[in-house]
Amino acid sequence: LSEHKYGRVPSDLRQLLDRLNVDDDGRITFEGERYAFIPQKLLVNALFIEALSVLGASLKTLIWPFSVLVGESLARHLIDKLGVPPENVLEDYAKFNSIRGWGDIEVVEVDLDAPKVVVKMRNSAFARGVREAVSNVKEVFPFYDCPWGCTFAGVLKVALEKTERQVPELSYEEVKCETLGNECCEWHVRREN
Ligand SMILES: [Zn+2]
Repeated sequence: LSEHKYGRVPSDLRQLLDRLNVDDDGRITFEGERYAFIPQKLLVNALFIEALSVLGASLKTLIWPFSVLVGESLARHLIDKLGVPPENVLEDYAKFNSIRGWGDIEVVEVDLDAPKVVVKMRNSAFARGVREAVSNVKEVFPFYDCPWGCTFAGVLKVALEKTERQVPELSYEEVKCETLGNECCEWHVRREN
C-alpha cells in the first residue's frame, strides 16, 4: 500500500479529485469503491443528536457495541481485501478514516502484547456537529462520549486474532474530548480489569 492510497486528506484538492470518478449514470466512486456522501449537518447535527435524545444512556449498551463490530468489519476488510499486515491495521484504519473526512486521527501507542491502544483525533466531524447542535453538551447528555473510540476496540480485537494472540475482554474510555472543550479527543483501549 502506497502513501498515495492512505494518509491525510491532501490540502491540494486536485490530488483527492484525481481519485474520484463519476460515471455517466451518476455513480460516484473513490479508489474504485462506490460512495454516497452525507452532509455532517444531517448525519451528526440531526441524526446523531436524535439518536442521543431518543436512546439516552442506553446508547452505550446499544450503539457502542455495534460500533465495535463496525471497527472489526473494517479491520477485516483492510487485512483480507487490501492486504494490510495485521500488525499495521490500527494505523491503517486511522489513515483510512482520516482521508474520508472524519477527522485527523493519530494512533499514539499500540502494544499488542499488553494489549493497549491510545488514539487521538483532531478536527472531528462528530465533535464539531455535536457542538453546533447543542450548547451545553454535558448538561443535556451527561453520558456523552464521541462515537469513534469504541471502533478501535474492534480493530484491536482483529489485530490480536490475526496475529494469533489471545483476545481478552477489552474496555474503551474517552479521556479527552474535543466536543467538551479539549484540544482533541483521546481514547484508551485496554484489557478490562
Ligand atoms: Zn470526543
